[in-house]
Amino acid sequence: MRGSWQERFVESPDVLKSSERPQTIVQVLDLEIGGGDFITMAGPCSVETEFQLMATAHHIRRGGARILRGGAFKPRSSPYAFQGHGLDGLKMLARAREESGLAIVTEVMSECDVPMVAEYADILQIGTRNMENYSLLEAAARSGRPVLLKRGMMATVADLLRSAQLILDHGNPNVILCERGIRTFETATRNTFDVGAIALLKHISHLPVIADPSHAAGHRELVPALARIAVAAAADGLLVEVHPNPDKAWSDGEQSLDFAGFDEMMASLDPYLALRGLVLTEPERVRHMEAVG
Ligand code: PEP
Ligand code: MN
Repeated sequence: MRGSWQERFVESPDVLKSSERPQTIVQVLDLEIGGGDFITMAGPCSVETEFQLMATAHHIRRGGARILRGGAFKPRSSPYAFQGHGLDGLKMLARAREESGLAIVTEVMSECDVPMVAEYADILQIGTRNMENYSLLEAAARSGRPVLLKRGMMATVADLLRSAQLILDHGNPNVILCERGIRTFETATRNTFDVGAIALLKHISHLPVIADPSHAAGHRELVPALARIAVAAAADGLLVEVHPNPDKAWSDGEQSLDFAGFDEMMASLDPYLALRGLVLTEPERVRHMEAVG
């Protein structure tokens, strides 16, 4: 890597690519995140009901996703909005994993909850509002679970890498970076999707990078285009919100895809994945795509 990048990110030396460490592969169940396969994480913003979660899990699995997302602890903009089911939500996620075989990613908001969330989740999600909550990052690092670290909505790439470095410093090498959009003067989209950050992170860091087009766009009709851009920018995967009935979702319905929308988005990624030499070949997906035409 050119010296200038190393100088620029001097506070995060261990997250930068080197000849000894060209790429980190985060192993989750039988998945290798960052290992060349494109990994889709999909599911509702919040875990609401058993039916909602199971229906979504089965659908996204057929569509080619390998990880189920869903919040049991929700950082809401309003203190009066639904805050999540907590432990009951984690239990529903664990049942969905048993039934579907999907791995689970879910947010942990408080360091006190880390041991409980780590018992149920395969990946701990650190949300945008907590990217610089160092005591939470330390606790998440010590849990031994892989950490999905979302970029703070007002954080620079250097800030994101510093937080990743802190997790590595606490003995956990399994960090997945996530670009989810940042705040800018533009308010027509919920956040500004910083595709340049994806390209940069892929260029300078050995950590896997995934893109969250849902929280970036804020509007479901924009999500597939941002997902395709993420594939073109060499992201290792996606985190995308899917709900059986988005208009009735308890959170983030506006940006959630319904099942047909998810299928369409996934199908639209294929040519972009092919440019990278990638094909989603899970037999269930192939059969499902044939069935939906
Ligand atoms: C989420 O993934 O539902 C979420 C709250 O994301 P963010 O922290 O990026 O807003
Ligand atoms: Mn959400």
